[in-house]
Amino acid sequence: MSLLVIGSLAFDTVITPFAKADNALGGSAVYVSVAASYFTKPIYLVGVVGDDFKEEHVKLLKDHNVDIEGLQIIENGKTFRWGGKYHDDMNNRDTLFTELNVFQDFDPVIPENYKKSEYVLLGNIDPTLQLRVLKQIISPKFIVCDTMNLWIDIKNAELLEVIKQVHVLIINDSEARLITKEPNLIKAAKMIMKMGPEFLIIKKGEHGALLFSKDKIFSAPAYPLENIYDPTGAGDTFAGGFIGYMQKTQDLSFENMKKAVIYGSALASFCVEHLSTKGIENLTQTKIQERFKEFLSLTECSDDEK
Ligand code: AMP
Repeated sequence: MSLLVIGSLAFDTVITPFAKADNALGGSAVYVSVAASYFTKPIYLVGVVGDDFKEEHVKLLKDHNVDIEGLQIIENGKTFRWGGKYHDDMNNRDTLFTELNVFQDFDPVIPENYKKSEYVLLGNIDPTLQLRVLKQIISPKFIVCDTMNLWIDIKNAELLEVIKQVHVLIINDSEARLITKEPNLIKAAKMIMKMGPEFLIIKKGEHGALLFSKDKIFSAPAYPLENIYDPTGAGDTFAGGFIGYMQKTQDLSFENMKKAVIYGSALASFCVEHLSTKGIENLTQTKIQERFKEFLSLTECSDDEK
């Protein structure tokens, strides 16, 4: 039993109204793997970094049961870099720069023992690479895909090809509208489900997330945080918590997926409380369970008629 994760490993420059970080550890695969590690192990990581990727970062991954045989370290190469600046509401951000660096020539080669992975998380990365990974996996049972506006804009055909092949697509509300050109989220969701995925998750930032199957909708609340320090990686952390719980429980029912959405949301709420990966580096099962229960209590009410 294993979980395969592909995505970016990055050095992020992040500016929020409350914090600034230069070259902090980030990347979709990093957030996903660390978050998933609280539910399952090992995590098979496929990605690429330059030799500027520090020993302490490799250690962080290894400490979270991440197997790095599939991580290519390019000599004299520079790790992917991304910069983002958040607006005052922290729900929106502008990309300041994207430096592909070692990603430019990256060919994801899946190690032999990774190929039988049944659970696969295609983290936010060029859909061409996501497709190359899918071709190498032998019999995946549950494929979850994350993406972003950039790929919807510049690699639309490739992204649609990926979407056809996955079980769950995770996107945010603006991406759902961008893919479909439909402003109403429920209509947009129906249109996306027709493109292939059995399930769809639409994240709505500080307003929670929606889970769709063909005939059901589940609405998860957001955790009411007063201090959001750095939202970077919240989406990836959500995805990691979600698939980690699904892999752990081996139950693909809609009911179980609802719980996975709450666990993903709980992990994401820890992520945004600190810069970079700091908020999810040292979690305990007790802390996660407590937050999971707090999430449940947010929507609990009695149906007694008075
Ligand atoms: P999130 O806040 O969950 O959307 O994810 C933020 C992470 O995505 C950052 O750590 C970035 O390094 C990474 N990222 C941003 N742009 C890209 C891109 N074009 N390809 C891969 N990863 C990216």
